[in-house]
Amino acid sequence: MTLKTVKDKGVQTLSIHAGEKPDPASGASAPSLVMSSTFVVDEEVSFSANNLTAESPFVYTRWDNPTTQQLEQKLAVLEQAEACIAFASGMAASAAVMLAHLSQGDHLVISNTNYPGTAEFARDTLTRLGIEVTPVDTSDLANVSAAMRNNTRMVWLETPSNPLLRISDISGAADIAHAQNALLVVDSTFASPIATRPLSLGADLVIHSLTKYIGGHGDAMGGSVCGSQALIGPLRGEALVHYGGVISPFNAWLIMRGMATLPLRMRCHQENALAVARFLETHDKVEKVLYPGLESHPQHALAKSQMDNFSGMISFRSANATGVAERMMQKLEVIHYAVSLGHHRSLVYLMQTTDLIGSSYRLEGEELEKYRDAAGEGVFRLSVGLEDASDLIRDLEMVL
Ligand SMILES: *Cc1c(COP(=O)(O)O)cnc(C)c1O
Repeated sequence: MTLKTVKDKGVQTLSIHAGEKPDPASGASAPSLVMSSTFVVDEEVSFSANNLTAESPFVYTRWDNPTTQQLEQKLAVLEQAEACIAFASGMAASAAVMLAHLSQGDHLVISNTNYPGTAEFARDTLTRLGIEVTPVDTSDLANVSAAMRNNTRMVWLETPSNPLLRISDISGAADIAHAQNALLVVDSTFASPIATRPLSLGADLVIHSLTKYIGGHGDAMGGSVCGSQALIGPLRGEALVHYGGVISPFNAWLIMRGMATLPLRMRCHQENALAVARFLETHDKVEKVLYPGLESHPQHALAKSQMDNFSGMISFRSANATGVAERMMQKLEVIHYAVSLGHHRSLVYLMQTTDLIGSSYRLEGEELEKYRDAAGEGVFRLSVGLEDASDLIRDLEMVL
């Protein structure tokens, strides 16, 4: 029993059933967890990843695995994509896409503030390989247009972006990228497919850190890339089989189990985040609150137009941030003082401006002023979890 068609199904049904197949040997209703690195074959199969096709049998788990394949099919359905590849982590997925699609002499336009790992990979590794990189504030499309060159092969957005929750206009950026024959890649980790389907807005590839909302329980790392079969097919051969950042089938299984409740969790994340954001907005020690679902967010209108759910990420500034961070480490009862995001548990972490500017973003001049203007000495990145909003608010009241 598998879904005959996904077109007439709602997102709750799809999150549970899409891609999953009962085990043909036992009839088990839950997806089977296939912890085998190799597969017994009954015909000669080429030993080259270059000869891999969608019809190839399972040969070796770095190429494909029955559990991982079910996760990939579920992700593809939720992202409205033809195909998907799962990776060992979000960074494995991001690095794979950049390395597979950019060569010496090519040019990349990328958000100037985003996930620090991605920022450092672009600025250090890609430039070392002879790829030109122009970081710009992609939340203003005029900056993206101005950065385009004849050799621009990729535009990379992260929306909402780490840590200031800037929103970038996906369909506008797609027009700009495509006019130059460049690919538009969107890291949609903060949004999840419940909020935004970037491919339907013109993006070519969508990246997720499955470690965050999609897995949702803080227990398994994974990453994914979704897109057309024409882009994903060759990526599997080069970026998965040869770079080797393959997900463990056990993690694929855990993430798939998490995904069954993704729509329900996202609804609760949004509801809790809005309550917490409104509390923070009225608190006299809080200087600034950034949440795409608040009318006060500078891009609330754009967020409304491309997000069906404002997700659970809040950034806020308070007086004496390092003192507050100390109190958080000592006194928080429910919220964990820890990095990462998108889990059922609420997490908070102070993103120090000097740290991010020095090691990751390296902003100068006007862009540095703009960052300091929004972030001051640092912002608290709060991933609002699924606990009772009243308990989260009480925890925050205690430390502010
Ligand atoms: C966490 C994260 C990544 C990296 O994912 P990992 O699974 O930690 O490797 C990339 N982009 C964004 C927006 C993230 O939040």
